Amino acid sequence: MTQNKYQNIIANEEVNQNKLDRADAIISELYHKMPKYIANGHGPFLAAIYDNDGNLIAESANSVLSDKCSNNHAETNVIRAAEEKLGTHDLSKYNLSLYITAEPCMMCIGAIMWSGIRAVYYGVPSKTVQNITGFDEGFKPKWLNEFAARNITVYGNIAPESGERVLRDYVTNGGTIYKPKRTY
Ligand SMILES: [Zn+2]
Repeated sequence: MTQNKYQNIIANEEVNQNKLDRADAIISELYHKMPKYIANGHGPFLAAIYDNDGNLIAESANSVLSDKCSNNHAETNVIRAAEEKLGTHDLSKYNLSLYITAEPCMMCIGAIMWSGIRAVYYGVPSKTVQNITGFDEGFKPKWLNEFAARNITVYGNIAPESGERVLRDYVTNGGTIYKPKRTY
């Protein structure tokens, strides 16, 4: 584990090395699983929710195309799955962490805020996602600060290179860039 590896981490608290190492391992595993999900018709984003003891609560990929539903992003899908599994609309008492292969879009930031998730760890930043794929991730002014004010920790830019590679492959292989037709 070199310091170099984490040099571009962004976070809204003082960086905790244990949290970062755990997130790096989980997100790297998610990157590894993405091609299989994509081959099965999912969009190129994957999310997982774990409790503080390292137990997997739920894992979901983006299913916008297969479900014909624009709000079925990986994050909204995995939050829905966790809430169904635990039988509650409020996850806060479970002290759960959300791990995502890419920075949440503006819709998912709202969904995370409403869910009671306590920590968010993501891989590829939105700007890079947009540059590679053309997806419009939305406008998100100071969302790390807003999450800190709500006691939700955020760590980002975790091992993004592997995630970028999967996104590039998705585009190269002709993966659909699902988005509304622009009239502006
Ligand atoms: Zn989203």
